[in-house]
Amino acid sequence: MIYFIQSPHDKRIKIGMSENPNLRIRDLQTGSSSKESHVPLLVLPGGRKRESELHSVFKKFRSHGEWFNPVPEILDYIKQETQEEFKYCRVCGKLYLSTPDKIDIQAHSKAHKIIRIGGYPYSIREFMKEMAWAFLANETPTVEISTQLSKDDIKRVIVYALWSRAKESGLQDYDFDDYILDYMDFLDAKLSGNNHDFKEISKKIEKRWEKF
Ligand SMILES: [Zn+2]
Repeated sequence: MIYFIQSPHDKRIKIGMSENPNLRIRDLQTGSSSKESHVPLLVLPGGRKRESELHSVFKKFRSHGEWFNPVPEILDYIKQETQEEFKYCRVCGKLYLSTPDKIDIQAHSKAHKIIRIGGYPYSIREFMKEMAWAFLANETPTVEISTQLSKDDIKRVIVYALWSRAKESGLQDYDFDDYILDYMDFLDAKLSGNNHDFKEISKKIEKRWEKF
């Protein structure tokens, strides 16, 4: 079987081959230094021959070994093969199948639980460390960040910090997803400059989360 999996760190995609793809994905996870799991994107029938064909089709996007950059060409191929849409989750920042099976749902909910208790994704931790180092090193810091973060990643840095405060004030775990999504909307509206949206979401937040 051929498998496509995505690294949670740099979002690169590995195209590999295994007799038992589930086991192989698990192996990679245990071999990885962080506890964050690779996201399985696609499993296809086939052996070495098909694997090398795919490596050659996507060779210009190769990063190293069996790892490829997450370019639209590869993501489109996966989408076409699975006939599945990937849904981007704004709470955790990962891609998930829009019709997940039981294992996907469990893995996804575990990923949220880890964030909820302060186990932030790698890119966010790196960002926080680099910012802090820059402030320690310079009185007026010029911050150069080597971690590649999307706008949404940076918004999550803020929203996860707000969540920690809310948690300290007694907000319950089951409110985690709603809380994160509301504050992501809040930041969207604030940055967009759309006054109407901003007022709407501010009202909603005041009603739901003010006391935290
Ligand atoms: Zn998620």
